Amino acid sequence: MNDCLFCKIIAGEIPSQKVYETKDVFAFEDTNPVAPTHILIIPKQHLETMLELSEEHRELIGSIHIAANHIARIRGIAENGYRIVTNCGRDANQTVFHIHFHLIGGRPMEWPPG
Ligand code: AMP
Ligand code: ZN
Repeated sequence: MNDCLFCKIIAGEIPSQKVYETKDVFAFEDTNPVAPTHILIIPKQHLETMLELSEEHRELIGSIHIAANHIARIRGIAENGYRIVTNCGRDANQTVFHIHFHLIGGRPMEWPPG
């Protein structure tokens, strides 16, 4: 866990552009944005992938989506719409193994994703 990039960001050991924080959720700007708004919303609890989720995380996952709702409004993308993406594992191209939710918006998007 000590080697986790996102745990270090939460701890302030690695700088980030914080957007939002609650007792169990942290959100910050993605350093390689794919859209005008690209924010990562993460649980403060270290969980490597979505596969680690169980009943005990029910409230935590709810908190993340409520945070996404707040952030979308704050950033002015609520009305036009936005996308929340979580990559899980190799085929999805997960590169950081601390669960994160990409909040992406500010431009029209296509479907299906690549
Ligand atoms: P994923 O491919 O779903 O695992 O997404 C990882 C995301 O983390 C990518 O969009 C990266 O641009 C982003 N990222 C990597 N390092 C940092 C960092 N130090 N601060 C902010 N975002 C980062
Ligand atoms: Zn972590």
